[in-house]
Amino acid sequence: MDFALHESGEAFRSEVRVFLAEHLTQDVRERVRRTGTVHDWRFHRALGAKGWIGAGWPVEFGGQGRGPWELRIFYEECARADAPTDGLSMTLMVANTLRVAGTEVQQREILPRVLAGEVVICLGYSEPDTGSDVAAARLSAIRDGDDWILNGQKVFTSLAHEAQYVFLLTRTNADAPKHRGLTMFLVPMDTPGIDVEPLWTLGAPGRTNRTFYTDVRVPDAARVGDVDGGWDVMTAALTFERGGTLGAVRALEETVAWARTARRPDGSAVIDDPLVRRRLARVAIENEVAALLSHRTTWTAAEGHLPGVEGSMAKLFSSESVQRCTADLLDLMGTEGLLTQDQPDAPAAGAVEAAHRKAAVARIYGGTSEVLRSIVAERGLGLPRTRAAR
Ligand SMILES: Cc1cc2nc3c(=O)[nH]c(=O)nc-3n(C[C@H](O)[C@H](O)[C@H](O)COP(=O)(O)OP(=O)(O)OC[C@H]3O[C@@H](n4cnc5c(N)ncnc54)[C@H](O)[C@@H]3O)c2cc1C
Repeated sequence: MDFALHESGEAFRSEVRVFLAEHLTQDVRERVRRTGTVHDWRFHRALGAKGWIGAGWPVEFGGQGRGPWELRIFYEECARADAPTDGLSMTLMVANTLRVAGTEVQQREILPRVLAGEVVICLGYSEPDTGSDVAAARLSAIRDGDDWILNGQKVFTSLAHEAQYVFLLTRTNADAPKHRGLTMFLVPMDTPGIDVEPLWTLGAPGRTNRTFYTDVRVPDAARVGDVDGGWDVMTAALTFERGGTLGAVRALEETVAWARTARRPDGSAVIDDPLVRRRLARVAIENEVAALLSHRTTWTAAEGHLPGVEGSMAKLFSSESVQRCTADLLDLMGTEGLLTQDQPDAPAAGAVEAAHRKAAVARIYGGTSEVLRSIVAERGLGLPRTRAAR
């Protein structure tokens, strides 16, 4: 495996940094904090105008045809800068799926608007009783002539309050085995009968939503994939979901900057304490492991394979590592470390406190740690299943 990035990759990194410096303004950061929403329309449209929403798409689909390594650089820089890219990543997951499983009309009408940064698509998978066991979804879709009538509830529908569409997992056949009675729809969020209610989590920023569907009527043209074939569509979509993140990179950078200026009661710099340096080094090592696992995911994709197990490993390690490392960094700062980003005296600009809360929820969405461990054990190591197939 080759870890070196080519010169063109480094040139692209500089371009991304310049873009972020220009568009990730204090105004944008402040709006994200205030609304708890990891999306900003002005920033998102700027990405669209630059052509970077479709950076990795083939040119014939309106993209820039950039390879996995350039994409990795793009996401690395966005993560390092803490850019609000949830809208981008969720929308791309669905748009990638539409490229494979959408109808011609869906592709023609929606994909160009996605690339332009005009459309965000949220994910309507989880329900109050079905999260990890997503195939047990119950929100019902019943055929009525050329239409479908939807009734039920979803939970944790992040960005539902900003999105133009929801990619909705429904039950169309209650008698079939659970994976065989599901159908996917792409439903405009302004369809009558959809209600969105905020749901606040521990995360930073922490807003997601509950969504309610009452006699929502959608045409059959809103269906994605076959009737009762929703699981195949979901499987494709979930494959686009799991990748790695970088680890606690920004938290470490901010803590090092803090430790250089902070003083002990005896006047010595915190950074000069060998025990502090050892703890900072340990975080740096964990970040390196997270980055390498994430590199491997990219490499697997670059070699033309689906990085299912590798993506699960990378996500599992990085989310747990960030939680572990930020707990240690907070401990190092003492009680002041608990000050949040909006408090002027917060050490490390509150970045560690925020990253710690973010990590707590990151261990849940996109597959919980327990579920990811099962994937690695069963699919990666060939160990027996942890539970009976239902
Ligand atoms: C901040 C946030 C944002 C989210 N955004 C979205 C979104 O946009 N769209 C969406 O559809 N969903 C979203 N989710 C939902 C997320 O996907 C689910 O929370 C997750 O899949 C876990 O499901 P659950 O909460 O129902 O917990 P459960 O599945 O009930 O799990 C409870 C506990 O049991 C464990 N467990 C469950 N099954 C197994 C198993 N087979 N083996 C071992 N242990 C198991 C879990 O690891 C966990 O510890 C979001 C969640 C959060 C926290």
